[in-house]
Amino acid sequence: MQNYDRIFVDGSWIEASGNGHFDVINSSTEEVMGRVPKGSGRDASRAVEAASNAFPGWAATPVAERAALLKRLQAGLAERAGEIAQTISAEVGMPIKLARAIQAGLPTLVMGQFADLLEKYEFERQVGSSLVVKEPIGVVAAITPWNYPLHQVVAKVAPALAAGCTVVLKPSEIAPLSAFMLAEIFESIGAPKGIFNLVSGDGPTVGEALVGHPQVDMVSFTGSTRAGRRVSELAAQTIKRVALELGGKSANVILDDADLGRAVKSGVGACYLNSGQTCSALTRMLVPKDKHDEAVAIAKATAESFTLGNAVEGAGKLGPLVSETQRDRVRGYIRQGIEEGATLVTGGAEPPDGLEQGYFVRPTVFANVTNQMTIAREEIFGPVLCIIPYEDEADAIRIANDSPYGLAGAVWSADPERAKRVARQLRTGQVEVNGGAFNALAPFGGYKQSGNGREYGEQGLDEFFEIKSLQL
Ligand code: NAD
Repeated sequence: MQNYDRIFVDGSWIEASGNGHFDVINSSTEEVMGRVPKGSGRDASRAVEAASNAFPGWAATPVAERAALLKRLQAGLAERAGEIAQTISAEVGMPIKLARAIQAGLPTLVMGQFADLLEKYEFERQVGSSLVVKEPIGVVAAITPWNYPLHQVVAKVAPALAAGCTVVLKPSEIAPLSAFMLAEIFESIGAPKGIFNLVSGDGPTVGEALVGHPQVDMVSFTGSTRAGRRVSELAAQTIKRVALELGGKSANVILDDADLGRAVKSGVGACYLNSGQTCSALTRMLVPKDKHDEAVAIAKATAESFTLGNAVEGAGKLGPLVSETQRDRVRGYIRQGIEEGATLVTGGAEPPDGLEQGYFVRPTVFANVTNQMTIAREEIFGPVLCIIPYEDEADAIRIANDSPYGLAGAVWSADPERAKRVARQLRTGQVEVNGGAFNALAPFGGYKQSGNGREYGEQGLDEFFEIKSLQL
């Protein structure tokens, strides 16, 4: 059991003043694996006060010292990587091998990248008769989801601290344990008090208290579009800066000259990553009408190669979903897809055979999906692929862009120039071309209702500054 009974405020572990705790559930076994305190609005205020008091000192700390702190945090994460991967694999349901690389490895890498970026960052620039300077915005409230819990925390905490801001973190109540490990690392390296504070709790209580707090200067939020909308509304009362990383319904455009086998196989994998619990998952596969049936056959065989099993034990290629609620939601979408007339090719809403415990959903493929069906419009957040036939290139681009979301996408073509031309026409924050890999130094974020602002890389650091012009 990983039990935490305190929150981390002003460099110390203190009792939360809220009522009780949240149980953290192992998604493969349905057993309680840990617990964290249910914080209150008062806890949020105490943490904001600590962050606010620490801000002037940290903002004035030399850049090299701030970078050195991030490097020490990186070393601390690297030291605990095995434990972090195990914990997140159990919480979220990502198979352990992948969890080591993505859930533990990636945030460790990103922590160090911000230290490197900081050392090269241009803090001021002469523009005609003015000196334009960048200054840290102040106290940042970071609110994060459960699907890549540490990755999303580091994507906010590292650039905020790099910029000279101080932070209050409210992690997801569903997968909070790695955030507590990070707080332990802050403590163990002797980080200045108050620069990083951790308050666990739910969104309406701790989240809203932070967003509404007058001493919070910026909210950096990752989560659902529904909660992001609420955060924006509340933050507007005090004209806070808000950075939002929200949901997606990303299109994988397979053009008529693409290597269909490669594109479809890779596309199924990109839809099912982390059991489909990925904001940038390629959930709509767009294929030429006359290649639809061939694509469906390849997708079916690929999906059926995704065996299910206990994530931490690495027993399958695909783990469970994070919770019973998510499992039931995803199964509901599968039923709705069938009712709305999509062809169920493989998978389905029934429990998978032979798995008594764990929130598993069968890897599912729908064919003959139209872009108006609910399963093509809403974020399902499970292993459910929609294959949508299109007429020609223009039709494919139109369908891809016909979504309230604009987070990610992909294009496949034998002609890289054609693929890039199509990629430029997608209204999304990132596009994978012919399977191009995720790059943690490239900015990540959404168009339309997928959010505002960018994370990672230089643009991810830019978000945390105010800009001042000194007229000389
Ligand atoms: P969620 O919106 O339910 O919760 C996210 C966080 O917001 C949690 O910490 C939650 O406690 C908090 N929250 C909820 N209501 C709040 C409120 N009223 N005020 C303040 N805070 C509140 O999302 P989730 O289920 O944890 O995560 C899944 C969602 O996150 C998906 O929609 C997914 O697409 C999105 N996501 C987006 C990205 C991205 O980078 N664009 C990355 C990962 C996840």
